[in-house]
Amino acid sequence: HDIGKNIVGVVLGCNNYEVVDLGVMVPAAKILETARKESADVIGLSGLITPSLDEMIHVAKEMEREGFSVPLLIGGATTSKVHTAVKIEQGYSGPTIHVLDASRAVGVMGNLLNPDKRDAFATEFREEYARIRENYAGRSARKRLVTLEEAQRRKFHIDWSGPAPAKPRQIGVQTYADYSLDELVRYIDWTPFFRTWELSGTYPAILDDPTVGAEARKLLADAEKMLDCIVRENWFTARAVLGIFPANGVGDDIEVYRDEHRTEPLAVLHHLRQQVEKPPGRPNLCLADFVAPRETRVPDYFGAFAVTAGLGLDEVSSRFQADHDDYNSILAKALADRLAEAFAERMHERVRKEYWGYAPDESLGNDDLARERYRGIRPAPGYPACPDHTEKRTLFELLDVTTHTGIVLTETCAMWPAASVSGWYLAHPDAHYFGIGKIGRDQVEDYAVRKESDVATIERWLASNLSYDPDEMVPA
Ligand code: SAH
Repeated sequence: HDIGKNIVGVVLGCNNYEVVDLGVMVPAAKILETARKESADVIGLSGLITPSLDEMIHVAKEMEREGFSVPLLIGGATTSKVHTAVKIEQGYSGPTIHVLDASRAVGVMGNLLNPDKRDAFATEFREEYARIRENYAGRSARKRLVTLEEAQRRKFHIDWSGPAPAKPRQIGVQTYADYSLDELVRYIDWTPFFRTWELSGTYPAILDDPTVGAEARKLLADAEKMLDCIVRENWFTARAVLGIFPANGVGDDIEVYRDEHRTEPLAVLHHLRQQVEKPPGRPNLCLADFVAPRETRVPDYFGAFAVTAGLGLDEVSSRFQADHDDYNSILAKALADRLAEAFAERMHERVRKEYWGYAPDESLGNDDLARERYRGIRPAPGYPACPDHTEKRTLFELLDVTTHTGIVLTETCAMWPAASVSGWYLAHPDAHYFGIGKIGRDQVEDYAVRKESDVATIERWLASNLSYDPDEMVPA
């Protein structure tokens, strides 16, 4: 989504900068063409999910190729100083600077546009980024990888001869075309809401914070007031689809079946496995480890879901925008996001208590829900345990997500409306989140074969989050 970018735009606007906002998922050519036409002094790029990190690398190279020299600012939730230094800066000879949050944008712009300060300021960053690159190269050279085969031997071992996996009460797909927003309000996790507005602290303690407490209270009061209208006047439509299926592990993949015959798979979900060498006894994890392998003949299950609370948001925010009311436009977007996350939390709870039903008596408070202190996980494709965004295509096909909810997947595997969440359900008591980290070329090749894709395509998708870099492979 573009909340962070909106906030930067407002902050800069308040400081007398003219901001030309091109929207989301804008091709490089359009950015550069507009920058020329408007004689932009600076170009800023914002990235939320990992595919946009790749796009930033491309834009930087295009700026170089077309002879630009204006500063390039990098920001957004998935960006970092390290990524900017290692992946983006070297592609462009003009100043390239990572801006941590909206509040710093004004200071950075001031320095870059002041002819007396500009050069020294840019040099300082250039030197810092060179140091970061050196450090990064040193660190990754020390990271040893084991072969995929060895990593598979060191998998997370579960004794499948023990208690049988929980049998779902309901197999198949469940849809909701218009879920009660009212019901979702109590599932809202407010801490990330404050982070969106760059107020740091945990809810509810943040309300009494000596520095930001007063602002946090004001913001929450406004949010609650708007939420009231959202619920009463049905500003947004909440839709969901979820499915629970018989499933078994096949190597590092998970096969999902239509019924208990477990013959022809409905879908095969591909997963990656950690390859970084770990101390003895620590497993090299893969999400497939938490599902009973086919050869055990143990009937196991697996779920998938997609929810949205963002249908209707565009109309609402353009209405505010037409009134030049940036604050309420951003507030509406932030609340749609909160409702989507709340919806994912509520659906997950219903899965545990009703559909899969492995925790029928669970009764958790808001804090426990926010910390996900329950049995089972809902890893999201694109996140560290399953960093391959393209697996969302399989998820969307498996559940026919677009037909049931109206959520569409863009070319770069982002979801529209942005206030949407999708993921997998895993119920095993030992299932937990982790990060895949660096993987070896052997796994990339194996993965490409399993996905019936090619190494170059896989590399393009995985390179963006620094999880795989062909130059830094330790030979298997
Ligand atoms: N309560 C938060 C929930 C979002 S963050 C909110 O309202 O914003 C937590 C979610 O991120 C998890 O439910 C999971 O879907 C995803 N996630 C976190 N860590 C992950 C990992 N390592 N791999 C895959 N998904 C992960």
